Amino acid sequence: MPFCKQACHYCDFHFSTSMKKKDQLVDMLCRELELRKNELPEQEIRTIYFGGGTPSLLTSEELRQIFTTIFANYQVAENPEITLEANPDDLSEEKLQMLKASKINRLSIGVQSFFEEDLKLMNRAHNAKEALESIQLATKYFDNISIDLIYGIPNMSAEKWQQNLQIALDLGVPHISSYALTVEPNTALHKFIEKGKIKPVNDEAAKAHFEIMVSMLKNANFRHYEFSNFGKDGYFSQNNTAYWLGKSYLGIGPSAHSYDGNFRKWNVSNNSLYIKALEINKLPLETEGLTITDKYNEYVMTRLRTQFGVDITEVEEIFGEHYRDHLLKNADVLLKKELLENRNQVLHVSSKGKFLSDGIASDLFYLD
Ligand code: SF4
Repeated sequence: MPFCKQACHYCDFHFSTSMKKKDQLVDMLCRELELRKNELPEQEIRTIYFGGGTPSLLTSEELRQIFTTIFANYQVAENPEITLEANPDDLSEEKLQMLKASKINRLSIGVQSFFEEDLKLMNRAHNAKEALESIQLATKYFDNISIDLIYGIPNMSAEKWQQNLQIALDLGVPHISSYALTVEPNTALHKFIEKGKIKPVNDEAAKAHFEIMVSMLKNANFRHYEFSNFGKDGYFSQNNTAYWLGKSYLGIGPSAHSYDGNFRKWNVSNNSLYIKALEINKLPLETEGLTITDKYNEYVMTRLRTQFGVDITEVEEIFGEHYRDHLLKNADVLLKKELLENRNQVLHVSSKGKFLSDGIASDLFYLD
């Protein structure tokens, strides 16, 4: 849902702050859903995820239109997980009642921080009061709630980060997704740092925040099931878990990505071009075929970030002996450095290596 009320300073996702084309875009989302209904043949839809942008800007009528199209064209499983990303400033009591009355059964709330100065620095559309109140209100209507928190923000002390986590724990949310603030090129944050208006992000502080989070959430009975995701039992994101396990998915809307096990597809990142193409029943997408090496590298990358790890037997079954031998040869050094652990023939990043998992994965990559 590629619309936002205002641009967060760190964001490099595709979105527009003008709502002028919202109606047309929702119509074209539905058309894309219809045109692509046979793309995942014989596959039951088990999860539906409204991502953004800001999907909580959808009206009840727009949501109804999208659900009607999905259920008329796809075979949806019984009790699918249906998540909507929401921003705190949209979650009024009335909005929550509307969402509860729809098919949505999971909310992912973009809190980012409970502190005013952090929210201002990031140019979020909500304030600290709304961050807190939206969750208190949301828990009245939804039990399956995730919140996003950002760490490694300039000027964020370890104590303040601990307080952020403690507030989340006190609110009783069963799932937390948390990312280090990254400075992407062409963002306002990048320019402010270059001009010296904002202090640069500090990797050491981010690493310390990550370690605080791992320890606090573990003590609160959260499972660290993916590098950036923590959940109580029964509350892991089914949608994201399917993605990490390499299941196929269909991405609808401008800049959305799809995967069918062999091909990646991505839609144009431009609302006007997206609408224009679909108005004449053309799909505005590009396609790339994945080689066996691409698939092996992606498998290693995503599995090492999750609790599932890299299963040596599975690597041999899917990719063959050659890739298994490559894996074992390169894993040896990392096992000796205690950055990797071999638990029953499954390779996992050790606690020592947790913050380095992307670098560890690249050491295991196969380069053609
Ligand atoms: S609300 Fe999300 S998508 Fe929109 S600008 Fe902020 S971070 Fe980006």
